[in-house]
Amino acid sequence: MTTEKCQNFVIFYGSQTGNAEWIAKNIHQESIERGFISECYVLDDYNNKVDFSKEKVLVFVISNTGDGDPPDNSIKFFRFLRKIKSKTYLSHAKFSILGLGDTNYSNFNNTAKRLEKKLLDLGGTSFYNTGLADDAVGLESIVDPWIANFWPALANVCVQKQKDSGIDVTESIVSLSIKDNSQNTNNLQSSENDSHLTNGNKSESIKLGNKILLDLTDIVDSDQLTAIPRLPTVFCKISRLNKEKVTTPLPSFLASSSRILNTRINAVRCLTHPNAVKKTLHLELDIKDLEFSFIPGDAFEIFAPNHEVLVKGILNTLGINENMAHEEISIEAAEGIVDLPIHLKKFDSTSIFELLRYGVDLTSLPRKALLRMMADYTSDDQEKRSLFFLCSKQGSQQLNRLYEQRPTILDLLITFPSCKPPIERLLDTLPQHQPRYYSIVNSPLMNPNELHFAFNIVDYYTPNPYNIQKHGVCTTWLDKLCGYVNEMNVRTILNPNISIPIALKTNQSGFNVPSDISKPLIMIGPGTGVAPFIGFLQHRELQFLSENNDKHLGDMWLFYGCRDKEKDFLYRKELEGFVERGILKELLVAVSRAPDAGVDGKPKYVQDIMRIKGRDIFELITKKDAIIFVCGDAKGMAKGVNDALADILVEHGQMQQSEALDLLKKWLREKRYLRDLVSKL
Ligand code: NAP
Repeated sequence: MTTEKCQNFVIFYGSQTGNAEWIAKNIHQESIERGFISECYVLDDYNNKVDFSKEKVLVFVISNTGDGDPPDNSIKFFRFLRKIKSKTYLSHAKFSILGLGDTNYSNFNNTAKRLEKKLLDLGGTSFYNTGLADDAVGLESIVDPWIANFWPALANVCVQKQKDSGIDVTESIVSLSIKDNSQNTNNLQSSENDSHLTNGNKSESIKLGNKILLDLTDIVDSDQLTAIPRLPTVFCKISRLNKEKVTTPLPSFLASSSRILNTRINAVRCLTHPNAVKKTLHLELDIKDLEFSFIPGDAFEIFAPNHEVLVKGILNTLGINENMAHEEISIEAAEGIVDLPIHLKKFDSTSIFELLRYGVDLTSLPRKALLRMMADYTSDDQEKRSLFFLCSKQGSQQLNRLYEQRPTILDLLITFPSCKPPIERLLDTLPQHQPRYYSIVNSPLMNPNELHFAFNIVDYYTPNPYNIQKHGVCTTWLDKLCGYVNEMNVRTILNPNISIPIALKTNQSGFNVPSDISKPLIMIGPGTGVAPFIGFLQHRELQFLSENNDKHLGDMWLFYGCRDKEKDFLYRKELEGFVERGILKELLVAVSRAPDAGVDGKPKYVQDIMRIKGRDIFELITKKDAIIFVCGDAKGMAKGVNDALADILVEHGQMQQSEALDLLKKWLREKRYLRDLVSKL
């Protein structure tokens, strides 16, 4: 391989929620400012944009979805890569990878690791170590230092036309004039003047925003701060098109996309008792006349807006009046920007109000880059100093205390009242607003014109000493649309005008009911994790009863968990019906808050019952070739179930723990063990 430096490099991203795209585009922009020549593309565009057999320096920013699978916009690329077998295909190329993952999932950063292995197998050379960022502790703690050290590594392999000195990130800190704030720095600052906005209905009340309790105990002078994030790229500018109000109910990208379907909610049923710990709703959507074909195991997306009260609060705080907020505008690339992030690109004729409702995420944990950007638009020295501290290495513990309060962008603006960023800079820095995913509950054989799903209303309090009530975006919105029903298992038909935008999301991981009905299934799904299994059971029952069927029905076992059989045993009647009709061979329920749960070896969770039924599970898997399906919480439950399966293999299969864990990994790869997992808050 030649040691000559390359003239340019290419950055590719595979992004599920926009984070990898945002990071890749920031690296791209910064590289240009640093005098490198670079291009930046989404991975699935690889064949239109570059020739891999020629490109010499490649950088990948790649996230994960599902159980360590590649993001949707990189699947084509991974398929292409899999087919290449030549050990020298990339022997001319140097690469580096930044992976975005989450240790709550067992296949942590699987995509980046797989990519690295494949690129090495094809003869590529890594010019800078792979970064494996962990969302469970905050992506930035790995991403920021990875990027900082990336530049010198890049300069070793790529020509750099100018020096780095033009972009000294500490410049604006040093120029700060710091007042003596000693009496403010040793306390938790709180507000006595929290403002409320309600619409008069008690159950709809939502707080406008909360002042965050700031821990500034160890605040240090700004010139002692290190690892301050760089100012995020200025991506967009707003052009005013029309003083007229934008009055369409949905943004153009939702109204005009052929993928997104506006769907009526037919009916709602509350699956839980009013005194249950969590409230769970079952909704039935009308998909008659829509092109929407699915099989049990598939999920779909709902495009829920940010809460109107939250959006209005932000507009108020930034001094944007009602008229300005609704004027017709367009979002354009700022000077020097080749490509806007995709979520800003899809809004053509829009309004600021619409962008805040549907374009950007107002509620997820603030990136450090956001705090850094805010510092630049903060006039009060003490507030500015606090913002710099919070996004620095020295303020990382204090930032964690801020994160515990799960602040919205409005909470930040209230906490730092002299911070008045232009709306464009917020749009640049806030992440993309995400659709929410739900598993489909019903089988199309049972209700071909309907789509059923279930979800918990997300409503919780932040931990002591904060105790601030927080609401989910989508589930709160749906609860409101459905009139806050709470009578258990009473089906309510809704007003025909209530509709929501949705899009199908077929399951890429193979988590679907197998077509061969004789295959035995072990299904594990506590709480709303049971959702897809209702569809599995309906589907198999109808396939079994169909005239063309000449196969016997494979054994089906369901391990289900709830807190109280009377209050939150979701779909109890349906599940017991499957047992009575001989469709479900075993329904095993762990009741976690039963008085004797977990006492004297009594089961508490699904994994406890699995251990009790270990021999049966072992035989189903090894003698009858059963497939294991797990659906639900990624963190506690999925790990507990994996451990239980390993213990069963050790006990009944006479193998070592490490062999059992390896076997489970192999089954995951072979799709004999399939998981559909979600990480809870
Ligand atoms: P949940 O109501 O919080 O809990 C259900 C049962 O699981 C309770 O008895 C709970 O017990 C128990 N549990 C708690 N920790 C456990 C652990 N470490 N191992 C095993 N069981 C445990 O459940 P949920 O909120 O519905 O959670 C289901 C998960 O599935 C969520 O993450 C959800 O996002 C995800 N999911 C939902 C859908 C959907 O379509 N809605 C689809 C796929 C996945 P205690 O509380 O008494 O400890």
